[in-house]
Amino acid sequence: MALTIGMIAHDRKKPDLAAWAEAHLDLIARHKVVATATTGSVLQRTLPDLPIKLVKSGPLGGDQQIGAMIAQGELDVLLFFPDPLEAQPHDVDVKALLRLVLVYDIPAAFSPRTATELARSGLFAR
Ligand code: PGA
Repeated sequence: MALTIGMIAHDRKKPDLAAWAEAHLDLIARHKVVATATTGSVLQRTLPDLPIKLVKSGPLGGDQQIGAMIAQGELDVLLFFPDPLEAQPHDVDVKALLRLVLVYDIPAAFSPRTATELARSGLFAR
């Protein structure tokens, strides 16, 4: 069964997420990917053949849209690479998103290494 995987990365972490997705393309290509707008455009440049549904940019409500998908049972996994060294104007949205990840116990990874461990768990092999 295809999963819906949310992908979000703060600006300086977008290359890390794109590199991770490229390295794990065989695993994620069988699933649906939804990404915030700028993250998604970076992913599309790296992986032009991967279909990606775009929501709004994070600071313009995209994190909240992904959060709403979680609340509605429409998101199975979240890969979210935040930048721990830069303040975000939409910090409250980030916090709300993380809260919903916990409320609904969504499998989530917040760095390349945790994403790799999640991939090794077999979750994406379903
Ligand atoms: P972006 O949003 O992909 O549009 O940059 C990500 C975020 O900062 O939440």
